[in-house]
Amino acid sequence: MTTTTTDLDAYLDANRDRRIASYEAFLRIPSISALPQHAADCKRAAAFVADELREMGVEHVEISPTAGHPVVYGDWLHADGAPTVLVYGHYDVQPVDPLELWVSPPFEPVVRDGRILARGAADDKGQIHMHLRATEAILATKGRLPVNLRFLFEGEEESASEHLEKWLAANHARLAADVAVISDTGFFEGNLPAITLSLRGIMYAQIDVIGAPVDLHSGGFGGAVENPANALARIIAGLKGEDGRIQIPGFYDDVVELSAADRSALAKLPFDEEAYREALGLPALVGEVGYTTLERRGVRPTLDVNGLWGGFQGDGAKTIIPAHAHAKVSCRLVANQDPERIFELFRDHVARIAPPGVRTTVTSLGGGRPSLTPMDHPATQAAARAIEAAFGRAPLYIREGGSIPVCASFETVLGLPVVLAGFTNPDDNAHAPNESMVLDNYERGIRAIARLWDEIAATKLGAAARA
Ligand SMILES: [Zn+2]
Repeated sequence: MTTTTTDLDAYLDANRDRRIASYEAFLRIPSISALPQHAADCKRAAAFVADELREMGVEHVEISPTAGHPVVYGDWLHADGAPTVLVYGHYDVQPVDPLELWVSPPFEPVVRDGRILARGAADDKGQIHMHLRATEAILATKGRLPVNLRFLFEGEEESASEHLEKWLAANHARLAADVAVISDTGFFEGNLPAITLSLRGIMYAQIDVIGAPVDLHSGGFGGAVENPANALARIIAGLKGEDGRIQIPGFYDDVVELSAADRSALAKLPFDEEAYREALGLPALVGEVGYTTLERRGVRPTLDVNGLWGGFQGDGAKTIIPAHAHAKVSCRLVANQDPERIFELFRDHVARIAPPGVRTTVTSLGGGRPSLTPMDHPATQAAARAIEAAFGRAPLYIREGGSIPVCASFETVLGLPVVLAGFTNPDDNAHAPNESMVLDNYERGIRAIARLWDEIAATKLGAAARA
């Protein structure tokens, strides 16, 4: 951090108590999106955010209805010639059960050992609040922002952002931007500053193998007919090789291969593979040959059976040939795999390897796109400089194995590069009892966001489009 105290620093220092009080007020609203009895609370949380935006001078603030919980929109667009950033966060939170495991009530925030404890402290109200405070501080001290900002805060992230994509498409015109910044991720183990470069997508399918209309006697019919459970086992065995490679023709065609820089960034992460194995209680770690554990779990596509059933499940022996057998199978996808295309390849491959003598069908159970913003993207580098300035060390570059649904929508519906700059401590217990945010992360995160706008203003992002 710079040693000279700027007006911004002085403002933030002078307003700390007020800031924490506001953060706590936001956390007291039980905006659980999944539970219908909290719909009014979601509205209150949206109103809280909208009021804050209006008060600090953000314009066109609107609580925009959807078929579910509302979206809060607002903008400040007076930085002529500067890039425009779309800022995303979500004001809804996860349910709180099991309640008995919380050390204090989830919607009565308390500060303890340098952390604030409450549902939403980290995911994601804390990070929205950091954005609000950064913008407020800049506008209060400078009267203007170095970039144009559009704010988009939704209330359904914890329920799969069900209505957001439609809202994005309908509001396309007022979402024009050069880059999106999503603050809904966190730092690396050890609370080391990090930027998440990619998220995986998913393809989810069910395989149904159907034999005779009823279970058959395995003595009377065994040997003469195909067994759906045996057939399913052969199909599953044909999906993935011993080398961990997925056997579906064309599966890897669109996979963006790792650059040498990507691989070395991942290799630099302080990761103790043996401790990881030990913590999982596994005899060994396995995966695709030629890739490290961190690469396998973050940047390579996967195929896993998520459920498998059929035939006799009771105690003892029952000599049947089951009438049917089933499996749920999913693939985690990486850039630029398309879930629909992968489903088609999967379905066709299963049809090819399915044995005769049974009827095999494959049904899609949905999917989501992967996303990736490269390490050398100017917006990623701007975020890296901002984080280093505020946290005193250069960020690590990490890959998330899971997904944030909106991230891929920003890329596909709005055509925006996405920077995943999140500031929560990795032990934040998001979605679990005793969620917490380290207050130092919160405070430095506010300063990093303020710095990020200066750093983005200094890039040429979107300049060609504006010229
Ligand atoms: Zn979140």
